[in-house]
Amino acid sequence: MNDPKMHALPDLEPFWMPFTANRQFKANPRMLVAAKDMHYTTHDGRQVVDGCAGLWCVNAGHNREEIVSAVKRQLDTLDFAPTFQMGHPMAFEAAGRVAAIAPKGMGHVFFANSGSEAVDSALKIALAYHRARGEGTRTRFIGRERGYHGVGFGGISVGGIPANRKVFGGQLLPHVDHLPHTHNLAEAAFSRGQPKWGAHLADELERLVALHDASNIAAVIVEPVAGSTGVLPPPVGYLERLRSICDRHGILLIFDEVICGFGRLGTPFAAQYFNVTPDLITCAKGITNATVPMGAVIVKDSIHEAFMQGPEHLIDIFHGYTYSGHPLASAAAVATLDLYRETSLFETSRAMHQVIADAAHGLRELPHVADIRNIGLIAAVELKARDGRPGTRGYDAMVRCFERGVMVRLTGDTLAISPPLIVGQDHVDQIFGTIADVLRTLD
Ligand code: PLP
Repeated sequence: MNDPKMHALPDLEPFWMPFTANRQFKANPRMLVAAKDMHYTTHDGRQVVDGCAGLWCVNAGHNREEIVSAVKRQLDTLDFAPTFQMGHPMAFEAAGRVAAIAPKGMGHVFFANSGSEAVDSALKIALAYHRARGEGTRTRFIGRERGYHGVGFGGISVGGIPANRKVFGGQLLPHVDHLPHTHNLAEAAFSRGQPKWGAHLADELERLVALHDASNIAAVIVEPVAGSTGVLPPPVGYLERLRSICDRHGILLIFDEVICGFGRLGTPFAAQYFNVTPDLITCAKGITNATVPMGAVIVKDSIHEAFMQGPEHLIDIFHGYTYSGHPLASAAAVATLDLYRETSLFETSRAMHQVIADAAHGLRELPHVADIRNIGLIAAVELKARDGRPGTRGYDAMVRCFERGVMVRLTGDTLAISPPLIVGQDHVDQIFGTIADVLRTLD
């Protein structure tokens, strides 16, 4: 270890890594020791271009000076203050910054520490809202197959990723139904942007309303673009139909924007991109550029107002986390959202949408490719699974990309690409050129 670029590996055994094949990883670790802008540095001194913004979260690129110094300043001033019956200015500033870019009429923000907590908070707000209005029978939730809403019991119940549910008990939250997912290779493979096929799948919601009666349904939750399942842009007209069915029946519509939020589609939220306004938005990740954990629920003013009707001395929602609006996370959020605005990052990144789309669809004729999907600054390359060994081809592709200096995200046999919004043409060339090379070498 005399080479200053090399880092000694620590004992790998004690850390039980999340969502990881631990033994496989520890046999051949991919260790990241530093990062700047579009690149990670590995423990053996290599530069790896970040093709997935960490975990879809480092939207402004890594270690941005403006955010780092704001967090350091906050740490020197106020390390912690409760937000239960107390307050500190930075949490209010952060809420104001989020509300300022939220869809019109969504001016209230409830803080959590992750996307999973934001989802559970949103589900609880939906239940409590109906009850506050005297419609306490509205307790059912409707999620969607292949949806990912984090890993809390609420999130995996409304979520539709089988592996995330099956070993944790058959029951989960009671009274949850799922809409069908919208993935259909026969009808919509190689769609550019939103598939033209599939809006009718939203009508399944009418079937569930007929079955249960609207008076028993609290909310529908979907990701506007399903991310973790392998990138599924919504069919043209699909979200609009969900919105109008929800409106017709007094059902709340929750957009889980943990991935889409903060510029992934070139607008602050997917709600603005698709011009469909939900009742609640869950977000996290890009809210602090992932420097400090934070999640949030953005709440329609009319929903918030329903909680403000009781006696003023009573707590209006019996929910919250010790770290809701933590000073460091709040300072990071303020600096991040200021940086996004001052650099017009969402707007300038739009020029790269077409570049990513062209590069992704340029892989169509390569070996093993089953589908290519894209929207905004997101692309996915779905590979045909090996017979009887699903996931192994995707895994091998991901590892070989990493060894060649490109980090992509893997779900099953689908490679997802969602770089920081500062991505340039050179990075896109490197990312997709490397994927192409790897696909040519893969069995
Ligand atoms: N919801 C969506 C749509 C997500 O993509 C994620 C994470 O990727 C989550 C919720 C969970 O967020 P976290 O991992 O911060 O709990």
